[in-house]
Amino acid sequence: MAAEKRKCPFCGGTAVLFTCSGCGGDVCEKCHHFELAGSGCGTVIPLYYCPSCAVDEKINPNAAFMKKEGCERPQ
Ligand SMILES: [Zn+2]
Ligand SMILES: [Zn+2]
Repeated sequence: MAAEKRKCPFCGGTAVLFTCSGCGGDVCEKCHHFELAGSGCGTVIPLYYCPSCAVDEKINPNAAFMKKEGCERPQ
């Protein structure tokens, strides 16, 4: 994965951007939401969401938890 710095569409800052696992758009390390999705058999898939996908329950299965608990969850 190339660590190329580009402009983040959310905060406007120049940073290393991730690709959103939901919409495929760019999101920087400050704006992204990191989620771990279990896929059975103990396998965990790291997912990077942009701010809009992070709170979208259709895209992020953990969005419901974020709404209830507000912020940080233990990883
Ligand atoms: Zn950003
Ligand atoms: Zn997204």
